[in-house]
Amino acid sequence: MPGWTGDPTWLLDVLKADGQINVRALGGWDSRGHGDFKDIRGIMVHHTGGPASAESIRDGRPDLRGPLSQLHISRDGVVSVVAAGVSWHAGTGSLPWIPANMGNWHLIGIECEWPYRGGIGEHNQRDEPWRRPQILAIRNTCAAILRKLAFGADRITTHKEYAGRSQGKWDPGNMDPNWLRDEIAKDLRGVKFPGEGTPDYTPPPTPVPVPPVDQYAGVLLYRGMRGPAVVKLQQRLKAVIVSQLVVDGDFGPKTEAAVRAFQSSKYRRPPLVADGIVGPATAAQLGLVL
Ligand SMILES: [Zn+2]
Repeated sequence: MPGWTGDPTWLLDVLKADGQINVRALGGWDSRGHGDFKDIRGIMVHHTGGPASAESIRDGRPDLRGPLSQLHISRDGVVSVVAAGVSWHAGTGSLPWIPANMGNWHLIGIECEWPYRGGIGEHNQRDEPWRRPQILAIRNTCAAILRKLAFGADRITTHKEYAGRSQGKWDPGNMDPNWLRDEIAKDLRGVKFPGEGTPDYTPPPTPVPVPPVDQYAGVLLYRGMRGPAVVKLQQRLKAVIVSQLVVDGDFGPKTEAAVRAFQSSKYRRPPLVADGIVGPATAAQLGLVL
């Protein structure tokens, strides 16, 4: 039996209720779409062909009117609810459990922003791994929707599986669909991933008072910086969130990923913007005194 017939107007509530997803909605999402869904049978995961905002998915392109998918997940792991109605994401293709060329009427589409600013192409796809906050958001989003629909991870598909033959699609690049389904199945079983909770991060047993921000007012550390301030930052990150982090005084991609993991933790009070940049608010919660 299909889990749901008609538009998924519950998307925002379901993603918010998960508690781990950094979710926002684009105004008017619940009445946006190219007509109504038939029965929803699963989820199709895509990548955008380069940098692409949620707004661009809403608006579409000169040759293809938006919305282009129901959901957008940015490279920083922010999930945007773009539309509740049918969106033009699947096109022609087929799967054993979807009527031929009818993916748009049976599958919730998720456009995942290509994680790097550089050019995109099959030649470099293996060199550009997906970032952890984005992968976590993809897992959590897919799992939350599957739970709502009472489906298993076998109802996750990708554009390349559906349309590889008919349209030459290869998205999402650098992501094995079987790996993705396996990761989402783990999430459905309650497995926590690094950056989501234990073992990389354990919340303190009692709330730690947040120090006043003013003593951190001068802190600004970001990728590309080097020196003793970065050493202190790495020591704090190593202590509180990524025990394997190498303390070398070089603010590289791993340090940036650790900062983002810290910032995106649901234990942050107040919540932090997961931008990978250590300013006064992040420094205050890290207890980073320079
Ligand atoms: Zn696609």
